[in-house]
Amino acid sequence: MSNLYASVIIPRPLDGTFTYRVPEALHASIAVGMRVVVPFGPRRYLSGIVEAISPLPPADVSQLKDIDSILDTAPVVIHPQIKFWHWLSDYYMCAVGDIFKAGTPAGLRLESESVVDINPDAEPADIAALSGQLMRIVDIVRRKPQIALNDLAKLTGAQSVEAAVSQLVESGILVMHESIKSRYTATKIELVNIAIERGNSDALNAAFKAVNRSKAQQAALLSIIKLTGFNRPTEPQKPVAVTTVLEATPDATREHIKQLAKKGLVEITTREVSIFSALDDEAAAPLPELSAAQTAALQQVHQSFHNFAVTLLHGVTSSGKTEIYIHLIDYVLRQKRQVLFLVPEIALTTQLTRRLQRVFGRRVIIYHSRFTDRQRVDIWRNLLRSNEPCVVIGARSAVFLPFKQLGLVIVDEEHDSSYKQSDPAPRYNGRDAAIVLAMLHGAKTLLGSATPSIETYFKATEGGKYGLVSLTERYGQVALPQIDIVDLKRERERRKVDGALAIDTIAAARRMLADGRQVIFFHNRRGYSPRAHCRMCQFIPKCDFCDVALTYHRFGNFLQCHYCGAIYPVPKVCPACHEPTIEITGYGTERIEDDIAAKFPDSRILRMDLDTTRSKDAYANIIDKFSEHKADILVGTQMVTKGLDFGNVGLVTVVNADTVINFPDFRSAERAFNMLEQVAGRAGRRADNPGHVVIQTYQPGHPVIQFVCRHDYLGFYNHELMERRRYFYPPFARIIIITLKHRAADVVAHLAEDYANQLRQQLGNRVKGPIEPAVSRIASLYIRQIMLRIEPEASLTQVKAILRAQYLRFNSSPDTRSKIAIHYDVDPM
Ligand code: ADP
Ligand code: ZN
Repeated sequence: MSNLYASVIIPRPLDGTFTYRVPEALHASIAVGMRVVVPFGPRRYLSGIVEAISPLPPADVSQLKDIDSILDTAPVVIHPQIKFWHWLSDYYMCAVGDIFKAGTPAGLRLESESVVDINPDAEPADIAALSGQLMRIVDIVRRKPQIALNDLAKLTGAQSVEAAVSQLVESGILVMHESIKSRYTATKIELVNIAIERGNSDALNAAFKAVNRSKAQQAALLSIIKLTGFNRPTEPQKPVAVTTVLEATPDATREHIKQLAKKGLVEITTREVSIFSALDDEAAAPLPELSAAQTAALQQVHQSFHNFAVTLLHGVTSSGKTEIYIHLIDYVLRQKRQVLFLVPEIALTTQLTRRLQRVFGRRVIIYHSRFTDRQRVDIWRNLLRSNEPCVVIGARSAVFLPFKQLGLVIVDEEHDSSYKQSDPAPRYNGRDAAIVLAMLHGAKTLLGSATPSIETYFKATEGGKYGLVSLTERYGQVALPQIDIVDLKRERERRKVDGALAIDTIAAARRMLADGRQVIFFHNRRGYSPRAHCRMCQFIPKCDFCDVALTYHRFGNFLQCHYCGAIYPVPKVCPACHEPTIEITGYGTERIEDDIAAKFPDSRILRMDLDTTRSKDAYANIIDKFSEHKADILVGTQMVTKGLDFGNVGLVTVVNADTVINFPDFRSAERAFNMLEQVAGRAGRRADNPGHVVIQTYQPGHPVIQFVCRHDYLGFYNHELMERRRYFYPPFARIIIITLKHRAADVVAHLAEDYANQLRQQLGNRVKGPIEPAVSRIASLYIRQIMLRIEPEASLTQVKAILRAQYLRFNSSPDTRSKIAIHYDVDPM
C-alpha cells in the first residue's frame, strides 16, 4: 500500500507549510484546497488547508504526524488562490500563514482557542432535530456559554470536535464568538403595505381625512398606495420597501410612515433578506447611454486590453468613469466571467453600489468590511457553489475571495492609500495584489482615477508597462470648478478673518446658500480642537502611551489620543506649572461645525467624520440626507472627498490646506494634490450648476496649490516626478521600511543600530537610518525605522533573501530573541 503526504498551510505566522502523513482511511477523500484538522504542538489542534499531496515522503520523517480528520467534502480554497497566497507571502515578506489568516473568514479557520456560543438567531427546530455528538455539543455550549474549542473537546471526551463544530457553525446553530460582537442587522429590510381593505372607498376616504393635517403624511400615503399597486385592482398588492417610498417622496421621512402605521392605515413589517436576494432582477435598469467622449474612451479601453494586462483610465472628476465601468462589467458578465470591483472603503460607496445594483440587480455581491464572519462564510460558499457570472464589489480584502473565472478587475480611485494595509501583516496593497490576481486568471485590470498615483502614471507612460486612456472632459461638458485661493496670512493682517473662515469665504458661502445651492466645508482634523496647551508654560498634554499631543472633544468634554484612542479629562490646572491656564486652540471639524452654525443660523448643517459615522448606517444616512437636500451645509474630513456625487453643491471650501500639505514624508505632495483635487471635484457636477472652490492657506505660492488651481494633473506629475528622481524615491526606487518596536527606549535604539549596521555590510548605502519616526511611541512601544531604497535594476529576490536571513539571525540569537518586534513593510504608503 502506498503512502501519501500532505503539506498543510497553518494559520500561524510561521514561515512555510507543514507536512503530515495522510492516514489510509482518508486517502480517497482528501484533495488540495480542503480543510484538515492537524495536531500542532502538544495536545493542540488546528485546521489548515491542504496545499499539495504527494506520494513522496519529506526528507525527515521522524517527527511526522498524522492528519486527524478532513473537514470538507469539496475544496474551499480553489485554484489559483494558493498560488496567489504564495506570491503575496513572497512579495510582501510575510508568512503564508498570515495570508491564510487575513484571507479567509474565521469561520473557515477553527482553532483550539476559538470561542463558540449558541447563535441567538438559531431556529429552535433545527436544534431539536440534532442528534448524537452534535446534540451533546450544543448541550454543553448551552451550559457553558463562550466555551473554547479545546475545553469543549475535553468535555465531550472526543479528541477533536472541530469537524462537528464547523458543521454547527455553518448551519447557523453555533457562532464563533467574534461574530456575536459585530452582529450586522442591515440585511433586514423594512416593508410597508396599505392596511385598509382594497376597494373600500369609504375606508380610503377616511384614511385621507385622518392625514389631512400633514402634507408629508398625505404624500407618503399616496406614494404607498401607488407603489404597492393598491390602486390598480387588476394587479396583486405587494408590500414595498420603506426606502423606496422615501425615495419617491422627498418630503416624507420614516417618522411620517410610522405615524401612518400608528393610525392603522399602513402596516410595517421587517423581513430578513439574504445578501444574495436583496434585489429582484426586475430591478434591472438599462445600461447608461454614453457620451461621444465616453464611447471613445470605452473603445480605447477595449483596444488597450489587447496590448496590455493593465490599463489606466485617467478621467477628470465627474467625467463618468462609473458609466464606463458599467459597460465593461456588462461586457464581461455576458462572456460568463466574473468581475472584481475594488473600492477604497466599501462603507463609503453606497452611491456607487446602488448605481451598480440598479443595472446588475442580484448579480452584484457586496463584500462589506462590517459583515459578520457568518456572512463572509456565506459569500465564500456561494462563490464556490455557483457558476453564475457576478460582480463582487469590496474593499481590498475582497481579493481573497474564491473566484472561479475572473474576466476583469476594476480598481476605482487606484491612488487611494486605503488600498494599503499597514498593520497587521500581510502589509499588502490591494491594488497591486489585484493586478497579480487578475494575471493568474488571465483577466484584465482597469485602474481608474482622476489623480493617478505617480507610480501608476509613470508605468502607463514612460514606464511602458500599462496602457493609458484619458478622459479629459466632464460629462455634459460641465466646466471644472473655478478655484480661488484665500491667503490666510494676508487676510489676518487685514483683520478679515472670523474664526476659521475669511470674511470673503463666508460671503461666498452666503451667496451660494441664498441661491438655494449647497456648500461643503472640508477639514482633515476631527474633534473640536487639535491643540490643548498651557498659556503660561507652553506645556502640551500628551498621551501616556504614545508620543502624540491630545485632541480636545467638546461633546463629552475630554481629551483623546487619535493614535490609540485613550481618553483623558481636561486638566483644571496645568500639570507642569500648576496654573489654571490650560487653553484649547485650533480647529477640528466639531468646532468648525459650531462656528458655522453660529454664522449661518438659518442653514441646516450635517457633519461627517469618524465620530459621526461609527454606527453601521450613519454614513449612508448622512449622504442620503445631503443628496436629498435635507441639509444645506456638509462639514467633513477626507470622507467627503471619496467619489461622492452630489448634484447641487455650488461651493466647496478647504478650511486649511496647510494641514494637508505639511506632512513629513515623500508622498505628502502627492497626497495633498489628490485630496485637494478630489475635494474640488465635488463642486459643480451638473451643467446647470457651475461650481466654485475656495482654498484657504498660509502658503498660497506652494506648488501643490498652484497645480490644483489650474486642475493641472500633468504639470503636477512632471514636477513631482523630478523631485522623486532627484531624491531617489518611487518610481525610481523600491522602498522597504523595517520597523522595530520595544517597551524600552534604549533597547530599541541600540538594537535598531545593530540591525542597520549588519544590513549595511551587505546592502551598503541602500540602508538609511535608523530614524526615530515623527510619532516615535505608540501604545507604550518605542519605535525605530530603517529605510531601504533599492534601485529598480537590483534583484529584489536577492535583497529579500538578505533581509530574511538577517531577520532569522536576529530572531534566533539568544540576546535578541523575543525581546523586540520587527516587521518589514514592502512598498509602504
Ligand atoms: P466620476 O466617477 O468620473 O467622477 P461619475 O461616474 O460619478 O464621474 O459621473 C458624474 C455624474 O455624471 C454622475 O451623476 C453620473 O450619473 C453622470 N453621468 C456620467 N455619464 C453619464 C451618462 N453617460 N449618462 C447619464 N449620466 C451620466
Ligand atoms: Zn495614545
